Amino acid sequence: MNPSIYGLTKSDLSLWITEQNEKKFRANQVWEWLYEKRVTSFEEMTNLPKPLIEKLSAAFVINPLKQMVVQEASDGTVKYLFQLPDNHMIETVLMRQEYGMSVCVTTQVGCNIGCTFCASGLLKKQRDLTAGEIVAQIMLVQHYFDERNEGERVSHVVVMGIGEPFDNYDNVMHFLQIINDPKGLAIGARHITVSTSGLAHKIREFAENGLQVNLAISLHAPNNEVRTSMMRINRSFPIEKLMAAVDYYLEKTNRRITFEYIMLDHVNDRPEHARQLAALLKDKKKLSYVNLIPYNPVSEHDQYARSKKADVLAFYDILKKNGINCVIRKEHGTDIDAACGQLRSKQMKKEASAS
Ligand code: SAH
Ligand code: SF4
Repeated sequence: MNPSIYGLTKSDLSLWITEQNEKKFRANQVWEWLYEKRVTSFEEMTNLPKPLIEKLSAAFVINPLKQMVVQEASDGTVKYLFQLPDNHMIETVLMRQEYGMSVCVTTQVGCNIGCTFCASGLLKKQRDLTAGEIVAQIMLVQHYFDERNEGERVSHVVVMGIGEPFDNYDNVMHFLQIINDPKGLAIGARHITVSTSGLAHKIREFAENGLQVNLAISLHAPNNEVRTSMMRINRSFPIEKLMAAVDYYLEKTNRRITFEYIMLDHVNDRPEHARQLAALLKDKKKLSYVNLIPYNPVSEHDQYARSKKADVLAFYDILKKNGINCVIRKEHGTDIDAACGQLRSKQMKKEASAS
């Protein structure tokens, strides 16, 4: 299949148009059809000359994704399972928040980081998604809104679906540039959050790229022993290396970082862990934020259980008493397969037992 045109930044598109010996302003027209009028076929781009429509159709597709399953939770969370042209499955989640419509996108088929609590890591990385395949996830949700005709728009994006975004760095950066384009979807950089398991060298690179996008770090443990037991990547990038990269990021950008911390019963939720975490973050109180995340149980990882409520509250209190900004994250879509990778792994099992 041809690549998706959604993978082109505006300057890529201008270049392609001029290479076809077409006038430059045609690029703006195509861009407007894609992101403002949001058509789903090249034939609908009625102000373009026929030969250009033919060239576009011969070189690109618009939507590379096939919608397979849609689950809607009672709180309005919608989970999509999409099939890629090479038949791999990915997940996208729409969350209705008080502040807007937030979409969680997938960046890879599977994940090589292999965290011991995560459903996405059950499948080794098969391949990176292209920028177009990541943009398309946002566009399909936006098309769903457009069909409902209630003027809703995707206003926030979290790069927290299947995959490690910094292990697919260039495609993810292109994706961010495309959805941030003020003449296109215009999703504000401050409304976008990228989450990483902690590839320190990429955190440094990200600090330098100038996009005002928020960064979240999956910390999940306050010391190397516990973190290595949960996240293999801690062997390559232990907490000292990770924190040095975080310090570099903070110095360069002066932007607040979110630390994600999944609460696992008796693994990382003891009072001493809270005190260690407070000590780890004590020199960045102003520029950090801890998100305490309820664990979504994954049946393949039954060594882990969700922390007890009283333990979460006690943990939270210790952080607060030490002056650390902290919230207990609200859950979305718990009555559907909410944790990243869960819907996909369930579907694969169904298919395996059917064949
Ligand atoms: N690979 C990146 C981004 C995708 S995962 C990363 O790890 O940061 C997004 C977030 O979901 C991470 O903080 C991850 O640790 C968390 N997560 C993974 N499995 C989870 C589960 N079963 N329950 C709750 N959060 C989970
Ligand atoms: Fe990959 Fe993130 Fe899951 Fe770890 S938590 S396996 S990095 S998707």
